[in-house]
Amino acid sequence: MQLLASYLSGAWSAGSGPKTALVNPATEAVLAEVHAGGHDLGGAFQHARATGARELGGMTFAQRGALLAGLARAIHGAREELIALAVANGGNTRGDAKFDIDGGAATLSHYAELGARLGGARLLADGEVIQVGRTARMAGQHVWAPRTGVAVHINAFNFPGWGLCEKLACALLAGMPVIAKPATATALVAHRMTELFAPLVPAGALQLLVGPAGSLLDHLGPGDVVAFTGGSATARVLREQPVIARHGVRLNLEADSLNAAVLAPDVELAAETGALFVFDLVRDMTQKTGQKCTAIRRVLVPAERAGDVADALRERLGRIAVGDPAHDGVGMGPLATAQQRDDVRAGIAELAEATSSIFGGTGEIEPVGVPAGKGYFVGPVVRATSTPNSCAPLHDREIFGPVITVAPFSGDPEIAAAFVARGEGCLVSSAYSDDRDWVGRFAAAAAPWVGRLYLGSSKMASQSPGPGTVLPQLLHGGPGRAGGGEELGGERGLRLYMQRCALEGDASLLKALIGTP
Ligand code: NAP
Repeated sequence: MQLLASYLSGAWSAGSGPKTALVNPATEAVLAEVHAGGHDLGGAFQHARATGARELGGMTFAQRGALLAGLARAIHGAREELIALAVANGGNTRGDAKFDIDGGAATLSHYAELGARLGGARLLADGEVIQVGRTARMAGQHVWAPRTGVAVHINAFNFPGWGLCEKLACALLAGMPVIAKPATATALVAHRMTELFAPLVPAGALQLLVGPAGSLLDHLGPGDVVAFTGGSATARVLREQPVIARHGVRLNLEADSLNAAVLAPDVELAAETGALFVFDLVRDMTQKTGQKCTAIRRVLVPAERAGDVADALRERLGRIAVGDPAHDGVGMGPLATAQQRDDVRAGIAELAEATSSIFGGTGEIEPVGVPAGKGYFVGPVVRATSTPNSCAPLHDREIFGPVITVAPFSGDPEIAAAFVARGEGCLVSSAYSDDRDWVGRFAAAAAPWVGRLYLGSSKMASQSPGPGTVLPQLLHGGPGRAGGGEELGGERGLRLYMQRCALEGDASLLKALIGTP
């Protein structure tokens, strides 16, 4: 039995205290165990502040970018091993596992390239030099400088690889040392990645805590950053931590999201844009068994297309085998934990009281290749409501599994945007249309409610990654219920880990300070 160790203060330590088991969610076989605590977390913060910050601070952006390129190569070198861990510990199909692991490597590579472009600079310019005096000689220039504390990264169970890498890429490139805490249930991938990364990063730049957070946050101080991804209940707990308010710790929250997809009235389902819409719905329901923060949950279709959409979903979903993802031909695996299965079942039961079934009933399923009674399985579920405005569970409860609800509308773009807004803040929402006027009206009204607006059309269908794919070039995060956080978005992603400062002085000096030495 593997006992997972944490990587703290430059050494691997198993900790002590009660143990939690990490299991295969398809078979419930125990894969590893982790102790609940027994670590010197104060020492880990000290190590990051004294050693990690100094080491990273002595490097240029280009050097830190080269470091990230090395981490991406390490993932590529161990790709098959990491995929096997994700299949076993995450209930991932091979495709799901690649999405997590290749996505992590691609994000590291993106920021490696950004580091190369930023070169030898130590401060990042924010805008242009501004004349603030009587003549152009007296000027101001906003700059970004690395924060000097520790970046604490708390990640959700659903993307153990990508979650580690996307936060790490931005923090290390900005120059901040990291203490990463993966979700306990699926920590095997992040643990193995850290084993690969540890010899490649400067001392103190990356530490890993496996198992519960314990007193992790008690050690926060001025200049530190907490980047959290997970449920809104945990986000609330973090927001209310006195230590965060006391030290003005910067807190970035990525939480729940009830993402919407809208089919516009100009789109025939048989056309390219209509096919993209159905493809994206099915992919978001089944990829990672619907356990994606960006997955579509709420669907709005013109009333006259509702029957066609239901038929298309029945036909596509009916072909997907659900079972142990280690078996050939399985297209959707189990949920990641027993608690997840129970939460999803409870959510479906609540939804079922207010909706009718289009496909899958309430998710009962006979999984393929699984010992009788084992595994945390829920089948794909499509529900329907004819009264989207008064169907409270549709807009209030994130069911973090393979479940969508379809509702009809008149086709009016402002009504579609109001439907998006009922989610009270989404990471992403999407519209499928080839009518630019319709899209313009929809986008203007919906944009304030979403971090990213995906606009599906026949012009981009052949190269679309779908709304559920988070890209390093574009912002990830959303207002309101989604937590109000911002990650990634190219160079914007570094700002969480940097401090903006207005420099004021002689214009030629300011220009020299932001130039490459
Ligand atoms: P969770 O239960 O909130 O846990 C998230 C992380 O927080 C885990 O690492 C967990 O550790 C840790 N944690 C729990 N209590 C803590 C505390 N008091 N102090 C510090 N850390 C604490 O969420 P989850 O079940 O892993 O993930 C599912 C949720 O994440 C869904 O709601 C989903 O929408 C959301 N999500 C959002 C995004 C996004 O980008 N917005 C992305 C992915 C997922 P343990 O595992 O050790 O308990």
